[in-house]
Amino acid sequence: MSQRVPVIDAHCDTLQKVLAGEGTLGEGIPTAHVDVPRLRQGGVDVQVFACWVPTPYRYHNATVYTLRLIEAFYRELNAYGDALHLVRTAEDIPHVLSTGKIGAILSLEGAEPLDGYLELLNVFYRLGVRWLGLTWNFRNQVADGVADADTGGGLTPFGVEVVHTCYHLGIVVDVSHLSPAGVESVLKEAKGPVVASHSNARALCDHRRNLTDDQARAIAATGGVIGVTFVPAFLTPEPEKASLDHVLDHIEHFVQVVGVDHVGIGSDFDGLGDSRPPRGLEDVRHYTALHQGLRARGFTEEEITAILGGNWYRVLTQVLPTAGTV
Ligand SMILES: [Zn+2]
Repeated sequence: MSQRVPVIDAHCDTLQKVLAGEGTLGEGIPTAHVDVPRLRQGGVDVQVFACWVPTPYRYHNATVYTLRLIEAFYRELNAYGDALHLVRTAEDIPHVLSTGKIGAILSLEGAEPLDGYLELLNVFYRLGVRWLGLTWNFRNQVADGVADADTGGGLTPFGVEVVHTCYHLGIVVDVSHLSPAGVESVLKEAKGPVVASHSNARALCDHRRNLTDDQARAIAATGGVIGVTFVPAFLTPEPEKASLDHVLDHIEHFVQVVGVDHVGIGSDFDGLGDSRPPRGLEDVRHYTALHQGLRARGFTEEEITAILGGNWYRVLTQVLPTAGTV
């Protein structure tokens, strides 16, 4: 079994392109930033694939839409099982490292697909979901998103049950997109690490989607990790000028505030909307530039390994179920 530390990207929205028939993960998606051939070129071992629910399905049919995304993903697993492996247990990660496959973690970006039923969290778990972003930008049955923060609402009673059940089952709890009160109540209810899969530092870019230093410290105190993200508007107040250097700035800032053990990457590739990726990070192949950039900024190889995946690996090992229990 390989002892190599995996490179892990904690967030992409590529499944929508798969569902839309724009290509296949296995052979390539010309319109996407992520596919298996390019994950290999970028040296990424494990990719978290989010099931994001487009706003027309915000109130209705989120479950159906998400099941369609998951079925599209399963068709990929069936067709390209020699290259892609669904990560359901902690042991699956050393397995993908030793077989040279790409590990895929299924996540929900927003609890809308639960439709208010805790049983559906179990169903999604059975389907392989191991990561839950509690909200997208808006209010749902679980909590308020950042766009609905004015009312000051944190987790609902259902949201509290969902968070507790995630820790019980072995699902990573993700606060990216949550309102400040939502983040606070998740931190209060947490029974293990809390993560922010794709959020940057508010101290460097004052955007509602970014984390304050206090929030970052509280996440780190749970043993969690913050995934620095490539979304240009979260990197700099001048998003059109966003570059690899801004990403490195946010990494350095979080390392100073919370320490190197609590910083990771969550690119948000294929979730950038109309904006172009940062210069120097045009698609997932450019993960190698992150490595070089961190080295140029004086990080040791050990620190770079932690940031590029070792820290996510620690959280996943702690949270995911062990083989034999699923
Ligand atoms: Zn997002």
